[in-house]
Amino acid sequence: ALTIGIVGLPNVGKSTLFNALTKNHVLAANYPFATIEPNVGVVSLPDPRLATLAEVFHSERILPATVSFVDIAGIVRGASEGEGLGNQFLANIREADAIAQVVRGFTDDDVVHVEGAVNPKGDLETINAELMLADLQTLEKAIPRLEKDVKSKRADAATLEAAVAAKDALERGVLLSHSGLDLAPIRELGLMTAKPYIYVFNVDEAVLTDAAARASLEELVAPAHAVFLDAKIESELIDLDPSDAAELLASTGQDESGIDQLARIGFDTLGLQTYLTAGPKEARAWTIGKGWKAPQAAGVIHTDFEKGFIKAEVISFEDLVSAGSVVEARSRGRARLEGKDYVMKDGDVVEFRFNV
Ligand code: GDP
Repeated sequence: ALTIGIVGLPNVGKSTLFNALTKNHVLAANYPFATIEPNVGVVSLPDPRLATLAEVFHSERILPATVSFVDIAGIVRGASEGEGLGNQFLANIREADAIAQVVRGFTDDDVVHVEGAVNPKGDLETINAELMLADLQTLEKAIPRLEKDVKSKRADAATLEAAVAAKDALERGVLLSHSGLDLAPIRELGLMTAKPYIYVFNVDEAVLTDAAARASLEELVAPAHAVFLDAKIESELIDLDPSDAAELLASTGQDESGIDQLARIGFDTLGLQTYLTAGPKEARAWTIGKGWKAPQAAGVIHTDFEKGFIKAEVISFEDLVSAGSVVEARSRGRARLEGKDYVMKDGDVVEFRFNV
């Protein structure tokens, strides 16, 4: 599964947030037999459509899609030089598919700030500088090797060109994800600033509802997505039943928990979407990539569904709900039989026809 690595300076609230991420009970429901590493938190993707489908189909249970987060430990200034957790940290972060950078915005005199004062802008610069330095080192090692390989025809000139262009961008202080370069030829280098980013501002309650304060933080990271949460509130929310949690959220001026936001934005940042299936046993969301065609999407349920794919019967969620049943949707002409070139849309409710 694709994972999002959580990074940030020490004492910014990473562990507090990560504990909240691991404390929810998605695991037991979705992965009864899977062993999950202790540093992985699995969160469900909020999707109110599933509850509606479960009503229509009288489903016994609901299985949402999930997003996995990996806790990668803190970065300190000098991490790229092997300071602190340097090298292990770098290895873990290279494996993540996207990065969620936690930035401290809360003030608390009892919690020491490693750089002396709460300074989101400075912290972002420290972390991004470390990640850029680490990528530069990777490229400086890779380029001489690629030069040799291009001479001996073991590598493409395009690969070398992409590596050199990436190095130039980093030397100009540009994050690779903002560089506009085509980095596909050097994907295997696992460059960290080339990954999609989400910024998580861990802020005081007052900031959550302060549009101007949020906008000025958002500006620091645009065009990347920013999530605002109070990690302490998140760790309280996770222990409450749904109605108390909703009350606490409302009292802090939020309509969605930070973890739900993070799951939603993380899922999107990873380039993922879902389609839905429903029946008396379960109403379920299945994770696919954006732009996937019907047979590939069927393969997520079972490889036989992909191999023996014949057709997909597709009803849009809205059509199904307004018809009230599959039979009624069919008689209204709202059920479409789609072939192997059909590109899946988010919210498609699907039943696959296949040969065994
Ligand atoms: P990490 O080093 O980034 O993992 O940070 P921790 O999660 O261990 O948090 C460091 C300290 O800050 C702990 O004492 C937390 O209780 C506290 N802390 C974390 N988040 C918040 C927050 O949103 N508000 C306040 N006031 N304290 C927080």
